[in-house]
Amino acid sequence: MSIQVIKDAIANKKMTCPQCKKPVQKYDKYAETIDAVRDGLGYTDIDSRGSRVTLTCGNAGCDWTERTEFWSQYIDD
Ligand SMILES: [Zn+2]
Repeated sequence: MSIQVIKDAIANKKMTCPQCKKPVQKYDKYAETIDAVRDGLGYTDIDSRGSRVTLTCGNAGCDWTERTEFWSQYIDD
């Protein structure tokens, strides 16, 4: 999962607002969720587990916005 997936979903109107059921218009504040795991030998393993993004509906009459790591649930297949 990456920023490109979010971009494509919005561009193709596949990111759906759960409140008004119209396509989400924009996203903001994208960030990778990084976990750094250190073992006993001082070796650091960095694991990218997901991406957090602020979604904003942007349609008239709807003020839905959400900051979430689970944005894939709003994408229609
Ligand atoms: Zn909406």
